[in-house]
Amino acid sequence: MKYVLVTGGVVSGLGKGVTASSIGVVLKACGLRVTSIKIDPYLNTDAGTMSPFEHGEVFVLDDGGEVDLDLGNYERFLDVTLTKDNNITTGKIFQSVIEKERKGDYLGKTVQVVPHITDAIKDWIESVSAIPVDGKDGPADVCVIELGGTVGDIESMPFIEALRQLSFSVGQDNFCLVHVSLIPVLGVVGEQKTKPTQHSVRELRALGLTPHLLACRSAQPLLENTKEKLSQFCHVPAANILNIHDVPNIWHVPLLLRNQNAHDAILNQLNLLSIAMPPALQDWTMMAETYDNLTNSVRIAMVGKYVGLTDSYLSVVKALLHACIACSLKPSIDWIAASDLEEDSAKSTPEAHAAAWETLKNAACILVPGGFGDRGVRGMILAAKYARENSIPYLGICLGMQIAVIEFARSVLGLERADSSEFDTDTPDPVVIFMPEGSRTHMGSTMRLGSRRTLFQTPDCITAKLYGNTQYVEERHRHRYEVNPEVIEVLEEKGLKFVGKDETGKRMEILELPTHPFYVGVQFHPEFKSRPRRPSALFLGFILAATGKLEAHLKSQQNGV
Ligand code: GLN
Repeated sequence: MKYVLVTGGVVSGLGKGVTASSIGVVLKACGLRVTSIKIDPYLNTDAGTMSPFEHGEVFVLDDGGEVDLDLGNYERFLDVTLTKDNNITTGKIFQSVIEKERKGDYLGKTVQVVPHITDAIKDWIESVSAIPVDGKDGPADVCVIELGGTVGDIESMPFIEALRQLSFSVGQDNFCLVHVSLIPVLGVVGEQKTKPTQHSVRELRALGLTPHLLACRSAQPLLENTKEKLSQFCHVPAANILNIHDVPNIWHVPLLLRNQNAHDAILNQLNLLSIAMPPALQDWTMMAETYDNLTNSVRIAMVGKYVGLTDSYLSVVKALLHACIACSLKPSIDWIAASDLEEDSAKSTPEAHAAAWETLKNAACILVPGGFGDRGVRGMILAAKYARENSIPYLGICLGMQIAVIEFARSVLGLERADSSEFDTDTPDPVVIFMPEGSRTHMGSTMRLGSRRTLFQTPDCITAKLYGNTQYVEERHRHRYEVNPEVIEVLEEKGLKFVGKDETGKRMEILELPTHPFYVGVQFHPEFKSRPRRPSALFLGFILAATGKLEAHLKSQQNGV
């Protein structure tokens, strides 16, 4: 196994994840098989308990792993299916070491950060890098490891030490270190400053790791003398100093790396030049350029709990982008804080209330994404009602599907207090209830997580047609609550159809309103499996419906065009 380690210096938020996944794309384009590992030096065992509004979205994998959103970038960029073990956290490592200690596996020895934690990190990396993630047999050729945080952070020290040992044990030809850093511009003359990078490289070298390549983030392209300075003071050949300046969209990053021959430098370091091909990135180039040149846009209202940090719904945004590009459209997302739509806000914050409604009414389609807790739920219900009554395309994901059910029960069945037991434990009409897969009394996680199968109940529904008339689909889940099986009959009698169910027939997976152009709710998260050139069928249908092209698409699909 060959390793490419990507570290970061100077500041966080440099786009290390995008750089690391772009390196993977370029290597893959050279004909190599690539896997990846993301290291998060925090103490949480996984991202499941972390607030998406602080840390960005919790990405969900097929195996139910709740992981950092960077794994989503890797899956999308490299078109792979990762496992929960591809995300290493301090919490996971410590947990495994402490479990071993409790079992007496250390034979009475003092258990220490070095060597026990560092050994556990190395073992984890070596075993996980061997798991195939691209659907082929056998391990990949290269594993890209991204170390989260910034070099010098106290919490990343055991990882740095473990990676130093790993670089030594796997040998020169099998280890390539790319350090991502920032070149700020200061002063009236606008000089590109190299000192922060010099310091972070020095810090890295003091810890026993020397970068083979530098990936320098900057607003404008690096000047030649900046590169020379960096080369001289950071001990990195000028040809190995890459520049990732600001680009119109992130799909340009692999192209930027290719244009600077990053692949040659990396392949050379890894002694892979003889087996690699020149990078084939025609598709990427086309994709990046198509995106730049889109002129027509479609207005999508996203009605969520909070809308301050758009990374909270990163995969939904990406899935919308993939679908829009397939329709030659630029997504124009209008973020609406659901609580601004509520009646209370008409009194407390009338301007925000009016603006939210105006935005909602100007949108071509309305999306209510997943979420937890009751904040903004009343606003989401109003948005779903507006979409239903005015024939505006609606896509409800997870919570968004539950919202559609509550709204329908209240407005159409006349059950005024219908609710989810997540929001109102005393509701007389719990139309959404807690339905754990395992035992209710068993301690531990009760979340239904990961890939599950949905069986279509009829081929004659929009979603089955969009998915290509298959019998079933497999999508990823992350929820605790479900539509109450006892209310299905009455809901269906009044026209809300449950066209997708799980294999037991008890869990409702997809709802549709056949009298509406596109009113779809799904208990799963189709956004996690959307890929740049393979948009999620549901997102595609949603955007087509928003632009009045759904019917023609379904017809052409049926005729096999
Ligand atoms: N809070 C809801 C549940 O647990 C929805 C979860 C979600 O949208 N991911 O079922």
